[in-house]
Amino acid sequence: MDMDAVIMELSERYDSFYLYQEAEIRRQIRRLKRAFPSVAFLYSVKCNANRQILKTVFEEGLGADAASAGEVLLSRQAGCPDDFIYYSAPGKTPADIEKATGEVNLIADSLNEIERIEAAAKRRQITARIGIRIHPASSFDGSPAQPSKFGIDEEQAMACLRGNRSSAVQIAGIHVHLRSQELNAAKLEQYYRRIMSLAGRLQKECGLRLDYINMGSGIGIPFSEGDAALDIEALGRGVESEIGKFRQVYPDMRFLIETGRFITGEGGIYATKVLDRKTSCGKTYLIVKNTLNGFLRPSLARLVARYAGEAPTAGSEPLFTGVDAFSIRAVKPGPAAETVTVAGNLCTAADVIAEDIALPRLDCGDVLTISNAGAYGASLSPMQFSSQERPAELFLTADGQVVEG
Ligand SMILES: *Cc1c(COP(=O)(O)O)cnc(C)c1O
Repeated sequence: MDMDAVIMELSERYDSFYLYQEAEIRRQIRRLKRAFPSVAFLYSVKCNANRQILKTVFEEGLGADAASAGEVLLSRQAGCPDDFIYYSAPGKTPADIEKATGEVNLIADSLNEIERIEAAAKRRQITARIGIRIHPASSFDGSPAQPSKFGIDEEQAMACLRGNRSSAVQIAGIHVHLRSQELNAAKLEQYYRRIMSLAGRLQKECGLRLDYINMGSGIGIPFSEGDAALDIEALGRGVESEIGKFRQVYPDMRFLIETGRFITGEGGIYATKVLDRKTSCGKTYLIVKNTLNGFLRPSLARLVARYAGEAPTAGSEPLFTGVDAFSIRAVKPGPAAETVTVAGNLCTAADVIAEDIALPRLDCGDVLTISNAGAYGASLSPMQFSSQERPAELFLTADGQVVEG
């Protein structure tokens, strides 16, 4: 499909829009399933809750990683069965817990939440089989753990599970998630191995019988030109072999991996129209539609890089991946003809997506695209700011139809 032609046609109707490509999303899902035949994948809804995407993902047989009661509902509405929805988030409200207990796979994020779920289960006179999110004693790379707002420290979880004799709550699974956007297959494999061994220890030492191990995410995609893509096939081989060993002892164990960005990140682009051009003190500005407010991350990347200087910026996913994580391209053909600064149409100077880049000469009405907009694009952007018209969210089906919303 000639994407530039599709974008040009759509830009006659929309001044700014996301365009998600079904074919690309399905391709990524199938790559995962081929590489990890023994793993059930969950789609992390928070990266992009677009209805067409959710429908596509669940049609492909994935489950849902829901980070809020709202995402639980969206997943249900888009066709994900309740027993394939895993709801894990810190700080659930009493209403969230009441609604989810006994309905979907609920994952407690603290000792408090275990007690609250137990109370909810008693009120309903059921036994709730729940998961717990664990903060392991060793971090992603194996060094000692740092404090975290997520999950229950491994040691506390061990102590709690050894003493757990409640009939209202049973521990059916564990959830660990420590890293996003990792591109090194060997490091990820080591991480997944450590989680399996943690699950083994818990089962032995606490006399548990787990149904599932949710190993979280970590799977990255190439954002910058210099990023080498993660070797997903090599990672699959390593993890599959470890699962094979694990299942010799626990044959029925279900293995889950959650991922958002790998599925949709590269399958979405953002298109924005040039609204004005001007020069100021010798610098040429292109003013484009809905950048910071419509697709936050490119402007935010520039801000973070400016404030952080040389300081490490780790731990800022998914708000910040790298300063060169998004490439900006003119849809108009032609060689680079001028150096421009690209800024959005908001009343704040922070709304700049590129400074002094070379582009073909663009005029009002011409269109720019930004890559890597499929994950943490629309879902992360402050669209209420300044009461601007929102960008459209468009879904390009595999047979070339465009669906809005
Ligand atoms: C956000 C999140 C994910 C998805 O992360 P990606 O980097 O998009 O794959 C998975 N698990 C948890 C617990 C998350 O919070």
